[in-house]
This record gives sequence, structure tokens and C-alpha cells, in this order.
Amino acid sequence: MAKSAPEAILIAAEILAKYEPVIGLEVHVQLLTKTKIFCGCSTRFGDPPNTNVCPVCLGLPGTLPVLNKRAVEMAMRASLALNCTIRERSRFARKNYFYPDLPKGYQISQYELPLATGGWLEIEVAGARKRIGITRLHLEEDAAKNLHEGFSQSATKAYIDYNRCGTPLVEIVSEPDIRSPEEAYAYLTALRQIMLYTGVSDCNMEEGSLRCDANVSVRLRGAQEFGTKVEVKNLNSFRFLQKALEYEIERHIGVLESGGRLSQETRLWNQAEGHTVSMRSKERAHDYRYFPEPDLLPVHIGAAWRDEVLRSLPELPEAKRARFISSYGITPYDAEVLTNTRALADYFEAVVKAGAPAKAAANWMQTELLRRLKDSGKEIEASPVAPQALAELVKLVESGQITGNVGKKVFATMFESGRSAAEIVAAEGLGAQVSASAIEQAAREVIAKNPENIAKFKAGNEGVFKFFVGQVMRATRGQANPQAVNDILKRLLSETK
Ligand code: ADP
Ligand code: ZN
Ligand code: MG
Repeated sequence: MAKSAPEAILIAAEILAKYEPVIGLEVHVQLLTKTKIFCGCSTRFGDPPNTNVCPVCLGLPGTLPVLNKRAVEMAMRASLALNCTIRERSRFARKNYFYPDLPKGYQISQYELPLATGGWLEIEVAGARKRIGITRLHLEEDAAKNLHEGFSQSATKAYIDYNRCGTPLVEIVSEPDIRSPEEAYAYLTALRQIMLYTGVSDCNMEEGSLRCDANVSVRLRGAQEFGTKVEVKNLNSFRFLQKALEYEIERHIGVLESGGRLSQETRLWNQAEGHTVSMRSKERAHDYRYFPEPDLLPVHIGAAWRDEVLRSLPELPEAKRARFISSYGITPYDAEVLTNTRALADYFEAVVKAGAPAKAAANWMQTELLRRLKDSGKEIEASPVAPQALAELVKLVESGQITGNVGKKVFATMFESGRSAAEIVAAEGLGAQVSASAIEQAAREVIAKNPENIAKFKAGNEGVFKFFVGQVMRATRGQANPQAVNDILKRLLSETK
């Protein structure tokens, strides 16, 4: 097995540039239902192994599946949010294969008649927007989990936890529209964000609620036909997805450049060694002996139900970003950050609604608030500073009642104590007796009258700064907030030539 390093070094950039990567992703998303797709067992993660099981999800003979309506509804939400057409009639199928994590010997999935088809989602890479087609979205059940470690006889035995068996999933298959590892990363990011916005899944990659397989091939730029594709599995983080694709693209080009041919196969990403290894030659659909599931009726979804689900969808990330830019006048970058999650976007809108100017609210959130939340490991939902409290602070600063620097200190105290800005300003005497604009005017006059001291200051005599502070304090009869005088003088002096 060749290692990545020599191949990566041997292929010159101009050779790599002759080829165009073609990528399509198959993403499994675990739906946030309380119970499994064909029985009433709980889907809770982390319970002791084999405690959320029953004869249906254990595949005991004589049991029958009953379709969970909530799972269908969530799959409909995902479909509509991804601009797919929901079929009026779809059908479950049995996908047959043998593996210990699949007690029935088949997985109930959908095959020729999936729930939804023909959608798209939008990505942005290096400032360019692009639509990636979505071929299909179908419902299926998850298999159990093999536990290879952590038990007394793990060295010689495999353990299986059937709690996950029967958990509802949707599989979302993209068109081969993705052209680089960065686009693949952007696609998965956008998909995850939509699933989170719609509440369809928690998309927790560590817990396996979001799993991604990547199909990749390369072709000479300008060629019409696709090259032979390889499917890469075991991509359990966004970074692994990108790395595995980068590796695999170079490997393909290396094979083709040395006159070889690629074989259609399934490979595994080995993160520790930084390369992919062949797992098996690609299975074909007929290997699975798909046939319609006789124990379940076809799924009928009429226009009324579809429209009801459509109406229940929240504003989606793209629409929210566009609205934030047009109605609040904030930059596309700010809009991108503030719509990252629904909770963050809601917080921002609440700050603005409470009277803070949008641009200032966006700045305060992105600097002070997000930084402190990150440092304290808190989510926005658990912010000790409520939107109304932040708005109050922003208004104090914007109206010149306190300076920006004082505002930052007040914010730190608010974050730690949960007290209001006004309370802290009053208790600590931080309020400006003289408005910021009056201080600025006095400072400008002092600067204009003392060119020789400016020269000294610019020459490196920092001591002169105290002179300026003293002069401004005198001009404002000692009523100005010294911190504010300091801040304003620093700014004006740095602007003075
Ligand atoms: P299979 O029959 O092997 O399952 P599909 O046509 O169903 O292949 O496609 C599976 C995934 O592979 C889809 O996401 C699709 O976009 C992608 N895909 C198909 N052909 C190629 C190709 N030549 N290169 C890269 N990805 C491809
Ligand atoms: Zn069950
Ligand atoms: Mg296929």
C-alpha cells in the first residue's frame, strides 16, 4: 500500500491541474424522533447497551413493523428544506445482507421509490455561490452498533448493542456536482446547518447522528465523461472528509498518470496514517437483492400534508442571511456569522428589537459576547447576558454615556455577575458626567493649542500624555470620566500627524 507522502510529492502542481475532481456525497442523518422507526423503543443515546430493544427491533420471527409517523414528517421536513419533490407514493424495500448488527438479515430502506427526489442546496466557496443537486432522500432504519472495545472479553469476542437498531435515518444522496474537497466541506456544512435549523437531527458526528460517505473520481479538464469512482467510508469529521478527498484525488491522478487504471471499489480512510485503504470491490445493487417490503404499506403523502409540513418550516439559513443583509444593513460576513445557528440569529434580532442599532449589536455579539461564551464553554442559549441586557449596554455606549472601553469592562462584569449595565455603571461610578462628544471637543482644542507637546509625544515622550489628560480634565472642570478622557485622547493622538 503506497503512502500519501511520496505520491503527494511526486505529482507536480501542473499535472494535478490537468485533472478535475468529481465528487458526490451520501450522507446519513439520524432523525430526532423519541422512538424508533418501526417500534416504540426509545432512541435515546448513551443508555446501557441492549436496554432499548423489543421483539420488533431485534428482528424476532413473527413480529411486524409499524411505521412511525413522526419519522416520515421529519424526513418530509428535510426533503422540503432541501428543495426536493416529495413523491405522492413511496415504498419501503428490503436490502438484504448478512451482518451481526442486522438481526433480520435485511435492512428496511427505500429503493426504486424513495420519499423525495430532485432537490438542491446552495454552497459558497471563495465568494462564489453554487448549487449542488440532490438526487434523492430516502428513509431507512439504522443497524446496531458493534462494540469492539471495553468489555472483559473484547480481545476475542465482538459485542453488539442493539439500542441503535431501528433508529430512523434519512440518506441524502447528492448529484456528482461537487468539484473540490473545499466544496465537499461546504456542502456538508450547509447540509448540517439546514438539518439543525429544521430540527430534523442534532447532527452530532461523535454520536454518529451525521455520517458521510464520499464518492470521488477525476477526469481530464474538459472531458465529458466521468472517471471511475471510488467510495470512501469512515469519514467521521469534516476535516477527515476534506483530507481523505485530497488524498484520494492525488492517488487517482497518480494511477492515471502512470498509465494505470482505477478499479471501482470501497476504501476506508485511515486517519492515523493519512491514507485510504481498499476495503472491498464495490458492491452492486443486485448484490442486495432488493425487493419491496411486504410487511409495510406504501407511503402516501398528499398535497395537504405536504403543505402543512412546508408551512411549519422555519426560515432557512440562506433566506435569513439575505434578510439580515437587506433589512439590518449588516455585512454579508456578519450575516454569515450571526445566522450560524438559529439561536444566535434569534439573539441578534432580540438585541435589535430591544433598541440597539443593528451594526453595533452585530459588533458587540461577535467580539465580546461570542469570545466570552467560547472561553466559558457556554452556548448562546445559556448566555448570562440576555439580549435585552446587551441592548441596554450598547445603547449606553452609542449615546456616549459611557465609552466603548468602559462598555467592555461593564460587559465583562455583566457576564460574570448577571447584573445590568445601568446597575454596574451606577455602582462603580463609570458614567460620564460629560458626554463623549463634549470631551472630544475639549480634547481637540487642547491638541490644537499645543503643537510642541504633540511633537514631543510623537517623538516618544509618553509622559506628555498626562499633560493632555490634565488639560482636558481642566477644560471639563474635572467632571469628565478619566477613562473616557484617556480613550478619546489616545484615539485623537493616534490620528494626529
Ligand atoms: P452507485 O450505483 O455506485 O451507488 P450512484 O450513481 O447511485 O452510484 O451514485 C452514488 C453517489 O456517487 C452519488 O452521490 C453520486 O453523485 C456519486 N457519483 C456517481 N458517479 C460518480 C463519479 N463518476 N464520480 C464521483 N461521484 C460519482
Ligand atoms: Zn424495539
Ligand atoms: Mg446508488
